[in-house]
Amino acid sequence: MNTSDSIILQDGKVLKLYGDQKHRNKNSIRYFCDHVDFFLEHQDIILGDSRLFLAHVLQDEDCIFTLGGLLEWWKYMPQMAIINDEDILRYIVAASPTYSKNLSRSFLTVTTSGKVKEFPLLGEYADRLRCLEEYCSRYSKAARDFEHLSLKNVHDTVVSLHKQREKEREIEKIWSPYRDNIELLYQHREEILARRDWAMAATPLKVYMIQRPIYIGSMLRLWEIGNKWLTYPCKCGHKAFIYSFAGSPLSGTTSISYKCVHCHKQGNAQVGGFLSRAHTLDIAQQELSKEVEDVGTILLTKLLDKIGTTNLK
Ligand SMILES: [Zn+2]
Repeated sequence: MNTSDSIILQDGKVLKLYGDQKHRNKNSIRYFCDHVDFFLEHQDIILGDSRLFLAHVLQDEDCIFTLGGLLEWWKYMPQMAIINDEDILRYIVAASPTYSKNLSRSFLTVTTSGKVKEFPLLGEYADRLRCLEEYCSRYSKAARDFEHLSLKNVHDTVVSLHKQREKEREIEKIWSPYRDNIELLYQHREEILARRDWAMAATPLKVYMIQRPIYIGSMLRLWEIGNKWLTYPCKCGHKAFIYSFAGSPLSGTTSISYKCVHCHKQGNAQVGGFLSRAHTLDIAQQELSKEVEDVGTILLTKLLDKIGTTNLK
């Protein structure tokens, strides 16, 4: 791959180009129009990778109309790209590929719901089509010479990327209240440990072989005493708190995430001793739950709300 090759988009974003052209160009205008709502909805993903951006929609002599080029033209030049046809907004796609010398030339438009309509290529429309061709021709060379997906592959790739992003967003939603508030929770450790229902608020951490949710109180106690299995030597000389870990009971290999409340460093590391870590945490869990039988617990987010409104003495 030649990484010095790139295209620069309208907003200045630089997209790296990959390999060689893998797909012989086919005019896939029908597929494009059928899925136009999908491509519009996910244009942020398409405008973020040259292999999606350069998918061919139509080739007209020397000019290749790429998926990204069209979406970008619609976005940045709506006054040229969009026709208000009796209150229906129609996006110009290209001159009609069915053009023949015996017929007058026409061009294609599509609505966001995929309805295609042809208009005769007359008057000011000729200028608009010229503008489109000029706009798209800036990406024609890259679209001819570098790797790009077919429109169908773009669709499938975007679907799976979208699913992956949704999943990541869900995980982030679960983890961020805990991970982003380690310092705040630690500052309020005395209050939290004094209220048993607070101490038993569940963190999102799940550890192999420990059945129950991991309580914030167990973590705070182990961090407070600087337990060697739940802390990690930070470069600043203090012990950073391990707030998440996962690993293999057989090999012991453990991935940890830590946060240092002294220098505020957050990081990940590979360490050993999985079983010792899990065992230590399990004992802390048992001790805490022994003390708090029949006490209800609150959600960690609720706990954060409560301590957020409490001033530290
Ligand atoms: Zn530190």
